[in-house]
Amino acid sequence: MKRKILYALILAAALGTAACATDEHSSATENSQNTDNVSSEATQDVFAMDTYMTVTAYGKNATAAVDDAIAEIKRLDALLSTGDENSEIAQLNVNKSAVLSEDGGYLVERAIELYDMTDGAFDIAIYPVMQEWGFPTKDFKVPEDATLKELLTLADVSDINYDSQTREISFVKDGMEIDLGGIAKGYTSSRIMQIFDEYDIESGLVNLGGNVQTYHTKTDGTKWRVAVQSPEDDSDYIGVLDVSDKAVITSGGYERYFEQDGKIYHHIIDPATGYPADSGLKSVTIISDDGTLADGLSTSLFVMGKDKAAEFWKAHSDEFDFVLLTDDDKMYVSEGIADDYTSDYNYEVIQ
Ligand code: AMP
Ligand code: MG
Repeated sequence: MKRKILYALILAAALGTAACATDEHSSATENSQNTDNVSSEATQDVFAMDTYMTVTAYGKNATAAVDDAIAEIKRLDALLSTGDENSEIAQLNVNKSAVLSEDGGYLVERAIELYDMTDGAFDIAIYPVMQEWGFPTKDFKVPEDATLKELLTLADVSDINYDSQTREISFVKDGMEIDLGGIAKGYTSSRIMQIFDEYDIESGLVNLGGNVQTYHTKTDGTKWRVAVQSPEDDSDYIGVLDVSDKAVITSGGYERYFEQDGKIYHHIIDPATGYPADSGLKSVTIISDDGTLADGLSTSLFVMGKDKAAEFWKAHSDEFDFVLLTDDDKMYVSEGIADDYTSDYNYEVIQ
């Protein structure tokens, strides 16, 4: 109970204002005599990408920056959502070829890079398999093993032809479809950081359904305190990260799943098997300057499991850090972030 109260305090502090989960709730507080050197705070909530999102900014242009950020979230949602038949990605999945927008092209390029970098753990071509499990429509079922094997032949990212000059994309195989759900939120939060730059914002924070990106420090100069959510209870947390100018992005099977015959089937698919990843991890939190990378890697390291994830980090420790929680409640924190991590539980620092 005590922990829950603390959590609320931290979240309130992190958001700079109590977050209110209503659709399009807007509470901008502007100083009435706003001059160039008077700072103000603005915050807005929006429901997009299947989740509640909050954008907060401090600075003389805070209201305009937050307005732009909310518009950007809606624009990217409409562009990237596989569930919206008019989106660029849904259209690509129907037509099997397209000339992508700048954002779509950038994301496909990053996704291909992530596929190579993670040895196939991050796989945007997994969408036919996701559909067979019923995740996009929420019409869940456990597929036949043979069907999954067949669909996995469509999940090879090297069968995506993409030309980064022209942004032309096409699929080698007929049934192929892609899904940018594993990186869309991280990209969106990094786009908001660019908007904050354009508006010369002093300090800011976005929370896209538990995926956080912080802009500079809090206005008092101290770091943002970002809670790492407990997989068991979304009002509880397992630790707190003190960060500035970082994305903090968590993936876990607990975020989306269904239950059949007493078994849990979650939404992060191991591209090696076609089944929900069963790598012994409950959650993966990635801390990085790069929101897109953080999002892609939170999904990827969840697929890899603790040992592979630790090896992967050692090869890329200048790009990100992690907090891992295993199925048997062991916690691992990579060295680069360990000094900025506090937890009531024991954890091992990976070096
Ligand atoms: P996240 O919540 O960032 O871990 O992303 C999970 C989402 O990414 C899922 O809901 C799917 O849309 C998609 N996805 C599932 N498995 C994978 C995978 N192995 N690689 C890339 N995207 C995936
Ligand atoms: Mg992700």
